[in-house]
Amino acid sequence: MYPHQPEGSHFVEGAYRDDREGTPFQSCFPADGRVIARLHVATPAILDHAIHSAQNAQAIWRTTSLSERQQVLRRVAEILRDRNDELARLETFDTGKPISETLVSDPASAAECFEYYSALSPTALQGSTEQTDTGTIKVLKEPLGVCVGIGAWNYPIQIAGWKAAPALLCGNAMIFKPSETTPLSALKLAEIIAEAGAPAGLFNVVQGDGKVGQWLVEHPGVAKVSLTGSVATGKKIHAAATAQLKHVSLELGGKSPLIVFDDADLEAAVEGAAAGNFYSSGQICSNCTRIYVQRSAFDRFLELFIARAESMKMGDPLDPETEIGPLVSEHHAESVRTYIELGLSEGATCVSGGPNSVSMAADGTYVRPTIFTDVREAMRIAREEIFGPVACVMMFDTEEEVIGRANATELGLAAGIYTGDNGRAERVAHQLQAGICWINTYNEYPIAMPFGGYKQSGLGRENGLLVLDHYTQTKSILTQSR
Ligand code: NAD
Repeated sequence: MYPHQPEGSHFVEGAYRDDREGTPFQSCFPADGRVIARLHVATPAILDHAIHSAQNAQAIWRTTSLSERQQVLRRVAEILRDRNDELARLETFDTGKPISETLVSDPASAAECFEYYSALSPTALQGSTEQTDTGTIKVLKEPLGVCVGIGAWNYPIQIAGWKAAPALLCGNAMIFKPSETTPLSALKLAEIIAEAGAPAGLFNVVQGDGKVGQWLVEHPGVAKVSLTGSVATGKKIHAAATAQLKHVSLELGGKSPLIVFDDADLEAAVEGAAAGNFYSSGQICSNCTRIYVQRSAFDRFLELFIARAESMKMGDPLDPETEIGPLVSEHHAESVRTYIELGLSEGATCVSGGPNSVSMAADGTYVRPTIFTDVREAMRIAREEIFGPVACVMMFDTEEEVIGRANATELGLAAGIYTGDNGRAERVAHQLQAGICWINTYNEYPIAMPFGGYKQSGLGRENGLLVLDHYTQTKSILTQSR
């Protein structure tokens, strides 16, 4: 028996299920490669069961009062908090992220999301009524039906929670497919949603790779797809879903800029840059991997940034002191290492970390925080998402120049500004082509704040009130007054 073996590979209609006909796959602890669970890819029988039970559950749930739905969501938040430590440990085993992070960030963020939607005023979903000369117009916000959530591997339970909570609040059912790299914590969320009193089948979890995802996207019984993943996958899912005119939300990759003006609190800016490049070993979509520092502050910023990077304790993710854990897999570590070597061959200067700081296999998949200078925007390390602890630090002179350089990318997930001048911060934020702008902070995600990208970083938003529009459709009813 493996240490984190679930009772079954899937959670469908209120119980763990398995079908040994499905292709076997495993989850490994990235710190040492140890197998922690063995599972099976969902077969058509499991997937059909997931669709039918979700349809049946949604028929009950859509007529359940909003306050009863909110009670279930509140209970989910409570159970997530009660089981926080156990869930954090599981997430650390599945992803390799340090326990110092997962204890405060992963199940906690999912709990915060369920709590936020459980506490929303009913007016958020109430619609409106208007008397006109023609008659009474009632505008209702109705659920879409069965929604599919597809997750990336970097924040598995948070991603599942950010999709499930608003979808369920709006009266939908959800079938969630976690990344095949990190299949375990979504099963726990399904168990918790069932325990909280949701009808069996309301939130089903099925396992598998992109083929299972594609099967779900193309199924006629699915009304909406919400993906968190790469731009390449987003384009495929968008094409498949819109071919059937389904609703789609896409939370994709980024190559976000951080702009540090010379009047900024440099220590705070360094903290923001470290959090936005090295937390979760850099495996965060909204990271500020292009750091622009104004000329007169450049040397001091770089000195502090290198010192901060080199002070970070790398090691066993289960050690509470560890700040840098392994990357999620050997395959991914290889990709990050290739980018570091590419940066050197493109002529950038590595001032901390580097390719020799990468270890693989028996040593785990560790990469030291790596910092490049002498970077030009044409270089691939400055244009492409690396999704590891690799930062490019560049110099700028004027506000106008840096805005142009920051926006010169096909991506537009996030941006950060550090300055002591509030007027300038606002002015620059308004000109940045990014879905999220942080001023004098970085990578903070209160659930009330809509999250999502401009340009190829995505479509639609998660969180806040705005997401309710992405899980509902509008019905207008006109009753003639005569
Ligand atoms: P990925 O695109 O390889 O996979 C994401 C998910 O899509 C997986 O569950 C995968 O099985 C599934 N999938 C793959 N092909 C599919 C297809 N044709 N049809 C349906 N499903 C398919 O991404 P990843 O490597 O798991 O995650 C890393 C990426 O996710 C990075 O680009 C990162 O920026 C992005 N990400 C974005 C956000 C955000 O909120 N914007 C958050 C986290 C991660």
